[in-house]
Amino acid sequence: MYLDNNATTQVDKRVAEEIMQLFLEDYGNAGSRTHEHGQRAQQIANRARSVIAQTLGSRDDEVVFTSGATEANNIAVLGIAPEGLRTDHRHIVSTSIEHKAVLEPLKRLEDSGFEVDLIQPDQHGRVAAADVLAAVRPDTLLVSVMAANNETGIIQPIEEICAGLVGHEAWLHVDAAQTYGKHSAPLLDRRIDLMSLSAHKVFGPKGVGALIARRRGYRRPPLTPLTVGGGQERGLRPGTLPVPLVAGFARAAELAFEEHAARQAACKKYRADVIAGLAPLNPVLHGEHENCLPHVLNVSLPGLDSEAVMVAWRELIEVSNGSACTSASYEPSHVLAAMGVPKDQVLGALRLSWSHLSPPADWPEAVSRVRALL
Ligand code: PLP
Repeated sequence: MYLDNNATTQVDKRVAEEIMQLFLEDYGNAGSRTHEHGQRAQQIANRARSVIAQTLGSRDDEVVFTSGATEANNIAVLGIAPEGLRTDHRHIVSTSIEHKAVLEPLKRLEDSGFEVDLIQPDQHGRVAAADVLAAVRPDTLLVSVMAANNETGIIQPIEEICAGLVGHEAWLHVDAAQTYGKHSAPLLDRRIDLMSLSAHKVFGPKGVGALIARRRGYRRPPLTPLTVGGGQERGLRPGTLPVPLVAGFARAAELAFEEHAARQAACKKYRADVIAGLAPLNPVLHGEHENCLPHVLNVSLPGLDSEAVMVAWRELIEVSNGSACTSASYEPSHVLAAMGVPKDQVLGALRLSWSHLSPPADWPEAVSRVRALL
Protein backbone atom coordinates (compact mmCIF):
# COMPACT_ATOMS: atom_id res chain seq x y z
CA MET A 1 0.00 0.00 0.00
CA TYR A 2 1.73 3.11 -1.25
CA LEU A 3 0.98 6.10 0.98
CA ASP A 4 3.80 8.39 -0.09
CA ASN A 5 2.13 10.45 -2.80
CA ASN A 6 3.77 13.68 -1.65
CA ALA A 7 7.10 12.18 -2.68
CA THR A 8 5.73 11.19 -6.04
CA THR A 9 2.58 9.85 -7.66
CA GLN A 10 2.05 7.01 -10.09
CA VAL A 11 1.64 8.10 -13.69
CA ASP A 12 -2.03 8.09 -14.70
CA LYS A 13 -2.58 5.31 -17.24
CA ARG A 14 -4.09 7.78 -19.73
CA VAL A 15 -1.02 9.98 -19.42
CA ALA A 16 1.37 7.04 -19.78
CA GLU A 17 -0.37 5.89 -22.97
CA GLU A 18 -0.07 9.32 -24.52
CA ILE A 19 3.62 9.59 -23.59
CA MET A 20 4.36 6.16 -25.02
CA GLN A 21 2.75 7.01 -28.32
CA LEU A 22 4.87 10.17 -28.53
CA PHE A 23 8.06 8.31 -27.69
CA LEU A 24 7.41 5.82 -30.45
CA GLU A 25 5.84 7.94 -33.18
CA ASP A 26 6.05 11.69 -32.65
CA TYR A 27 9.69 11.79 -31.64
CA GLY A 28 10.74 14.93 -33.53
CA ASN A 29 12.75 17.77 -32.06
CA ALA A 30 10.47 20.74 -31.44
CA GLY A 31 13.32 22.98 -32.64
CA SER A 32 13.58 21.31 -36.08
CA ARG A 33 11.84 23.51 -38.62
CA THR A 34 12.80 21.66 -41.77
CA HIS A 35 10.48 18.67 -41.64
CA GLU A 36 7.16 17.27 -40.61
CA HIS A 37 8.40 15.47 -37.48
CA GLY A 38 9.85 18.68 -36.09
CA GLN A 39 6.76 20.73 -36.90
CA ARG A 40 4.52 18.13 -35.33
CA ALA A 41 6.67 18.09 -32.17
CA GLN A 42 6.45 21.85 -32.00
CA GLN A 43 2.67 21.77 -32.31
CA ILE A 44 2.46 19.23 -29.49
CA ALA A 45 4.73 21.33 -27.28
CA ASN A 46 2.76 24.49 -28.09
CA ARG A 47 -0.48 22.80 -27.18
CA ALA A 48 1.00 21.57 -23.90
CA ARG A 49 2.20 25.08 -23.11
CA SER A 50 -1.28 26.48 -23.72
CA VAL A 51 -2.89 23.88 -21.50
CA ILE A 52 -0.58 24.65 -18.56
CA ALA A 53 -0.95 28.41 -19.13
CA GLN A 54 -4.75 28.21 -19.20
CA THR A 55 -4.97 26.27 -15.95
CA LEU A 56 -3.25 29.23 -14.26
CA GLY A 57 -4.82 32.13 -16.12
CA SER A 58 -1.41 32.81 -17.66
CA ARG A 59 -0.18 33.48 -21.18
CA ASP A 60 1.55 30.80 -23.19
CA ASP A 61 4.82 32.74 -23.26
CA GLU A 62 4.85 32.85 -19.46
CA VAL A 63 5.42 29.08 -19.24
CA VAL A 64 9.05 27.92 -19.10
CA PHE A 65 9.36 24.14 -19.13
CA THR A 66 12.00 22.78 -16.74
CA SER A 67 13.02 19.38 -15.40
CA GLY A 68 10.82 19.88 -12.33
CA ALA A 69 10.17 22.16 -9.40
CA THR A 70 13.76 21.97 -8.11
CA GLU A 71 15.07 23.53 -11.29
CA ALA A 72 12.22 26.05 -11.42
CA ASN A 73 12.97 27.11 -7.83
CA ASN A 74 16.65 27.50 -8.66
CA ILE A 75 15.96 29.63 -11.73
CA ALA A 76 13.54 31.80 -9.76
CA VAL A 77 15.76 32.36 -6.72
CA LEU A 78 19.24 32.39 -8.22
CA GLY A 79 18.10 33.87 -11.53
CA ILE A 80 16.64 37.01 -9.93
CA ALA A 81 19.80 37.72 -7.91
CA PRO A 82 21.69 39.65 -10.63
CA GLU A 83 18.74 42.08 -10.75
CA GLY A 84 19.12 42.56 -6.98
CA LEU A 85 22.81 43.35 -7.40
CA ARG A 86 22.08 45.74 -10.27
CA THR A 87 19.36 47.65 -8.39
CA ASP A 88 20.89 47.30 -4.92
CA HIS A 89 17.92 45.28 -3.64
CA ARG A 90 19.67 42.58 -1.65
CA HIS A 91 17.02 41.58 0.83
CA ILE A 92 14.89 38.44 0.53
CA VAL A 93 11.95 37.22 2.62
CA SER A 94 11.09 33.53 2.73
CA THR A 95 10.08 30.94 5.32
CA SER A 96 11.94 28.37 7.39
CA ILE A 97 9.62 25.61 6.15
CA GLU A 98 10.47 25.87 2.45
CA HIS A 99 11.67 22.83 0.55
CA LYS A 100 15.46 22.44 0.34
CA ALA A 101 15.18 23.38 -3.34
CA VAL A 102 14.40 26.92 -2.15
CA LEU A 103 16.38 26.98 1.12
CA GLU A 104 19.66 25.90 -0.47
CA PRO A 105 19.62 28.48 -3.29
CA LEU A 106 18.74 31.08 -0.62
CA LYS A 107 21.72 29.96 1.45
CA ARG A 108 23.94 30.42 -1.58
CA LEU A 109 22.67 33.99 -1.99
CA GLU A 110 23.16 34.68 1.70
CA ASP A 111 26.75 33.48 1.44
CA SER A 112 27.29 35.93 -1.41
CA GLY A 113 26.04 38.95 0.53
CA PHE A 114 22.23 38.91 0.34
CA GLU A 115 20.26 39.29 3.53
CA VAL A 116 17.64 36.55 3.93
CA ASP A 117 14.85 36.69 6.52
CA LEU A 118 13.18 33.33 7.11
CA ILE A 119 9.74 33.63 8.73
CA GLN A 120 8.85 30.95 11.26
CA PRO A 121 5.52 29.10 11.19
CA ASP A 122 3.20 28.85 14.18
CA GLN A 123 2.80 25.56 16.02
CA HIS A 124 0.12 24.53 13.50
CA GLY A 125 2.57 24.71 10.59
CA ARG A 126 1.26 27.91 9.05
CA VAL A 127 3.24 31.04 8.44
CA ALA A 128 1.33 34.26 9.22
CA ALA A 129 0.91 36.51 6.17
CA ALA A 130 1.31 39.50 8.51
CA ASP A 131 4.77 38.27 9.56
CA VAL A 132 5.83 37.85 5.94
CA LEU A 133 4.54 41.30 5.00
CA ALA A 134 6.06 42.96 8.07
CA ALA A 135 9.49 41.69 7.00
CA VAL A 136 9.25 43.26 3.53
CA ARG A 137 11.38 46.40 3.16
CA PRO A 138 11.97 48.95 0.39
CA ASP A 139 15.10 47.01 -0.65
CA THR A 140 13.35 43.60 -0.72
CA LEU A 141 14.06 41.92 -4.03
CA LEU A 142 12.13 38.68 -3.61
CA VAL A 143 9.45 37.13 -1.42
CA SER A 144 9.32 33.35 -1.74
CA VAL A 145 6.62 31.34 0.05
CA MET A 146 5.50 27.80 -0.72
CA ALA A 147 1.80 27.19 -1.48
CA ALA A 148 1.61 24.15 0.83
CA ASN A 149 4.24 22.33 2.79
CA ASN A 150 5.34 18.94 1.48
CA GLU A 151 5.83 17.38 4.93
CA THR A 152 2.72 18.57 6.74
CA GLY A 153 0.34 19.40 3.87
CA ILE A 154 -0.39 22.74 5.54
CA ILE A 155 -1.65 25.34 3.08
CA GLN A 156 0.11 28.71 3.39
CA PRO A 157 -1.71 32.08 3.14
CA ILE A 158 -0.76 32.94 -0.45
CA GLU A 159 -3.90 35.03 -1.15
CA GLU A 160 -3.23 37.28 1.86
CA ILE A 161 0.43 37.67 0.92
CA CYS A 162 -0.59 38.60 -2.65
CA ALA A 163 -3.07 41.17 -1.34
CA GLY A 164 -0.49 42.66 1.03
CA LEU A 165 2.13 42.96 -1.69
CA VAL A 166 -0.04 44.92 -4.11
CA GLY A 167 1.86 48.08 -4.94
CA HIS A 168 5.19 46.76 -3.65
CA GLU A 169 7.99 46.19 -6.14
CA ALA A 170 9.28 42.92 -4.64
CA TRP A 171 9.03 39.88 -6.92
CA LEU A 172 6.82 37.13 -5.49
CA HIS A 173 7.75 33.49 -6.02
CA VAL A 174 5.52 30.59 -4.97
CA ASP A 175 6.72 26.99 -4.88
CA ALA A 176 3.47 25.29 -5.90
CA ALA A 177 4.88 21.78 -6.35
CA GLN A 178 2.43 20.35 -3.82
CA THR A 179 -0.71 22.27 -4.76
CA TYR A 180 -0.80 22.60 -8.53
CA GLY A 181 -3.79 20.60 -9.76
CA LYS A 182 -4.85 19.92 -6.16
CA HIS A 183 -5.50 23.30 -4.56
CA SER A 184 -4.97 25.68 -7.44
CA ALA A 185 -7.31 28.64 -6.84
CA PRO A 186 -4.73 30.79 -4.97
CA LEU A 187 -2.29 30.29 -7.85
CA LEU A 188 -4.50 32.29 -10.22
CA ASP A 189 -3.59 35.56 -8.48
CA ARG A 190 -1.49 37.54 -10.94
CA ARG A 191 0.42 39.19 -8.11
CA ILE A 192 2.39 35.92 -8.11
CA ASP A 193 5.23 36.67 -10.51
CA LEU A 194 7.04 33.35 -10.40
CA MET A 195 5.70 29.89 -9.70
CA SER A 196 7.30 26.43 -9.61
CA LEU A 197 5.39 23.35 -10.77
CA SER A 198 6.19 19.65 -10.94
CA ALA A 199 4.43 17.04 -13.09
CA HIS A 200 5.21 13.98 -10.99
CA LYS A 201 3.17 15.23 -8.03
CA VAL A 202 0.00 15.25 -10.16
CA PHE A 203 0.13 11.84 -11.83
CA GLY A 204 2.41 13.05 -14.61
CA PRO A 205 5.93 11.90 -15.48
CA LYS A 206 9.09 12.58 -13.49
CA GLY A 207 11.68 14.86 -15.06
CA VAL A 208 9.40 17.69 -16.15
CA GLY A 209 7.85 20.74 -14.55
CA ALA A 210 7.60 24.43 -15.22
CA LEU A 211 8.50 27.86 -14.03
CA ILE A 212 5.67 30.29 -14.61
CA ALA A 213 7.19 33.75 -15.12
CA ARG A 214 4.32 36.22 -15.39
CA ARG A 215 4.62 39.63 -16.92
CA ARG A 216 3.78 42.77 -14.97
CA GLY A 217 2.23 44.80 -17.75
CA TYR A 218 4.88 44.48 -20.45
CA ARG A 219 7.69 43.73 -18.04
CA ARG A 220 8.90 40.18 -17.60
CA PRO A 221 10.52 39.12 -14.32
CA PRO A 222 14.19 40.05 -14.83
CA LEU A 223 15.66 36.55 -14.65
CA THR A 224 19.18 35.65 -15.70
CA PRO A 225 19.40 32.07 -17.03
CA LEU A 226 21.49 29.62 -15.01
CA THR A 227 22.50 27.63 -18.09
CA VAL A 228 23.25 28.75 -21.61
CA GLY A 229 22.97 26.91 -24.88
CA GLY A 230 20.45 26.64 -27.66
CA GLY A 231 18.13 29.46 -26.60
CA GLN A 232 15.03 27.31 -26.03
CA GLU A 233 12.36 28.50 -23.58
CA ARG A 234 13.25 32.11 -24.43
CA GLY A 235 16.80 31.43 -23.36
CA LEU A 236 15.76 30.84 -19.74
CA ARG A 237 16.06 27.09 -19.88
CA PRO A 238 18.00 26.08 -22.96
CA GLY A 239 18.08 22.44 -24.09
CA THR A 240 15.96 20.22 -26.34
CA LEU A 241 12.39 20.08 -25.04
CA PRO A 242 11.36 16.59 -23.86
CA VAL A 243 8.15 16.78 -25.90
CA PRO A 244 6.63 13.48 -24.67
CA LEU A 245 7.15 14.53 -21.03
CA VAL A 246 5.85 18.04 -21.62
CA ALA A 247 2.75 16.63 -23.33
CA GLY A 248 2.33 14.11 -20.49
CA PHE A 249 2.55 16.95 -17.97
CA ALA A 250 -0.18 18.87 -19.81
CA ARG A 251 -2.42 15.79 -20.04
CA ALA A 252 -1.94 15.13 -16.31
CA ALA A 253 -2.79 18.77 -15.58
CA GLU A 254 -5.93 18.65 -17.72
CA LEU A 255 -7.12 15.54 -15.91
CA ALA A 256 -6.32 17.04 -12.50
CA PHE A 257 -8.45 20.10 -13.23
CA GLU A 258 -11.31 18.15 -14.85
CA GLU A 259 -11.48 15.60 -12.04
CA HIS A 260 -10.63 17.97 -9.20
CA ALA A 261 -13.90 17.71 -7.26
CA ALA A 262 -14.07 13.92 -7.39
CA ARG A 263 -10.40 13.56 -6.41
CA GLN A 264 -10.81 15.95 -3.47
CA ALA A 265 -13.88 14.08 -2.24
CA ALA A 266 -12.10 10.72 -2.45
CA CYS A 267 -9.07 12.10 -0.57
CA LYS A 268 -11.24 13.64 2.16
CA LYS A 269 -13.00 10.34 2.71
CA TYR A 270 -9.68 8.50 2.79
CA ARG A 271 -8.39 10.98 5.37
CA ALA A 272 -11.30 10.19 7.68
CA ASP A 273 -10.51 6.47 7.29
CA VAL A 274 -6.82 7.02 8.08
CA ILE A 275 -7.63 9.03 11.20
CA ALA A 276 -10.17 6.44 12.36
CA GLY A 277 -7.79 3.58 11.50
CA LEU A 278 -4.91 5.04 13.51
CA ALA A 279 -7.09 6.22 16.42
CA PRO A 280 -6.40 3.16 18.65
CA LEU A 281 -2.72 4.22 18.67
CA ASN A 282 -3.54 7.74 19.98
CA PRO A 283 -1.63 9.53 17.23
CA VAL A 284 -0.40 13.09 17.73
CA LEU A 285 -1.27 15.10 14.61
CA HIS A 286 1.24 17.70 13.41
CA GLY A 287 -0.36 20.68 11.73
CA GLU A 288 -3.93 21.86 11.96
CA HIS A 289 -6.68 19.93 10.26
CA GLU A 290 -8.56 22.90 8.71
CA ASN A 291 -5.64 24.15 6.63
CA CYS A 292 -4.36 20.76 5.56
CA LEU A 293 -4.45 19.34 2.04
CA PRO A 294 -6.98 16.49 2.15
CA HIS A 295 -4.49 13.82 1.08
CA VAL A 296 -1.82 14.38 3.75
CA LEU A 297 -1.39 13.54 7.42
CA ASN A 298 1.74 14.05 9.49
CA VAL A 299 1.59 12.16 12.79
CA SER A 300 3.71 10.64 15.48
CA LEU A 301 2.73 7.64 17.53
CA PRO A 302 3.58 8.16 21.23
CA GLY A 303 6.67 6.28 22.37
CA LEU A 304 7.62 5.13 18.88
CA ASP A 305 10.42 6.03 16.55
CA SER A 306 9.42 6.49 12.90
CA GLU A 307 12.02 4.00 11.64
CA ALA A 308 10.57 1.28 13.93
CA VAL A 309 7.04 1.90 12.66
CA MET A 310 8.15 1.84 9.03
CA VAL A 311 9.92 -1.49 9.61
CA ALA A 312 6.80 -2.89 11.32
CA TRP A 313 4.66 -1.80 8.38
CA ARG A 314 7.01 -3.26 5.77
CA GLU A 315 5.07 -4.88 2.91
CA LEU A 316 1.87 -3.47 4.39
CA ILE A 317 1.99 0.33 4.20
CA GLU A 318 4.69 2.55 2.69
CA VAL A 319 5.03 5.97 4.29
CA SER A 320 7.92 8.37 4.81
CA ASN A 321 9.47 10.18 7.72
CA GLY A 322 10.19 13.41 5.93
CA SER A 323 10.90 14.76 2.51
CA ALA A 324 12.12 12.20 -0.04
CA CYS A 325 14.84 14.63 -1.02
CA THR A 326 16.55 14.33 2.34
CA SER A 327 15.61 10.75 3.23
CA ALA A 328 18.90 9.32 1.86
CA SER A 329 20.68 11.04 4.74
CA TYR A 330 17.90 11.16 7.28
CA GLU A 331 17.85 14.40 9.21
CA PRO A 332 15.06 15.22 11.64
CA SER A 333 12.49 17.43 9.92
CA HIS A 334 13.43 21.13 9.78
CA VAL A 335 9.72 21.83 9.23
CA LEU A 336 8.48 20.15 12.42
CA ALA A 337 11.40 21.61 14.37
CA ALA A 338 10.41 25.11 13.16
CA MET A 339 6.85 24.43 14.35
CA GLY A 340 8.23 23.76 17.84
CA VAL A 341 7.30 20.06 17.82
CA PRO A 342 9.22 18.36 20.67
CA LYS A 343 12.28 16.39 19.54
CA ASP A 344 10.90 12.93 20.44
CA GLN A 345 7.82 13.64 18.34
CA VAL A 346 9.94 14.91 15.46
CA LEU A 347 11.90 11.64 15.54
CA GLY A 348 8.62 9.71 15.52
CA ALA A 349 7.00 11.69 12.72
CA LEU A 350 5.42 9.82 9.84
CA ARG A 351 4.05 11.41 6.70
CA LEU A 352 1.13 9.56 5.15
CA SER A 353 0.01 10.87 1.77
CA TRP A 354 -2.57 9.09 -0.36
CA SER A 355 -4.43 9.87 -3.56
CA HIS A 356 -7.79 9.31 -5.22
CA LEU A 357 -6.26 6.09 -6.58
CA SER A 358 -5.22 4.63 -3.20
CA PRO A 359 -7.03 1.40 -2.31
CA PRO A 360 -8.20 0.98 1.31
CA ALA A 361 -5.46 0.08 3.81
CA ASP A 362 -5.61 -2.71 6.36
CA TRP A 363 -5.60 -0.47 9.46
CA PRO A 364 -6.40 -3.22 12.00
CA GLU A 365 -3.27 -5.09 10.83
CA ALA A 366 -1.23 -1.86 10.88
CA VAL A 367 -2.37 -1.16 14.45
CA SER A 368 -1.64 -4.66 15.69
CA ARG A 369 1.90 -4.60 14.22
CA VAL A 370 2.59 -1.31 15.98
CA ARG A 371 1.13 -2.58 19.27
CA ALA A 372 3.55 -5.49 19.10
CA LEU A 373 6.38 -2.92 19.33
CA LEU A 374 5.13 -1.38 22.56
N1 PLP B 1 9.17 21.85 -3.83
C1 PLP B 1 8.34 21.12 -3.08
C2 PLP B 1 7.43 21.80 -2.11
C3 PLP B 1 8.32 19.73 -3.21
O1 PLP B 1 7.50 19.01 -2.45
C4 PLP B 1 9.19 19.12 -4.14
C5 PLP B 1 9.24 17.65 -4.27
O2 PLP B 1 9.47 16.95 -3.33
C6 PLP B 1 10.03 19.93 -4.90
C7 PLP B 1 9.99 21.29 -4.72
C8 PLP B 1 10.96 19.34 -5.92
O3 PLP B 1 10.24 18.97 -7.06
P1 PLP B 1 10.89 18.13 -8.24
O4 PLP B 1 10.98 16.71 -7.75
O5 PLP B 1 9.95 18.29 -9.38
O6 PLP B 1 12.23 18.71 -8.55
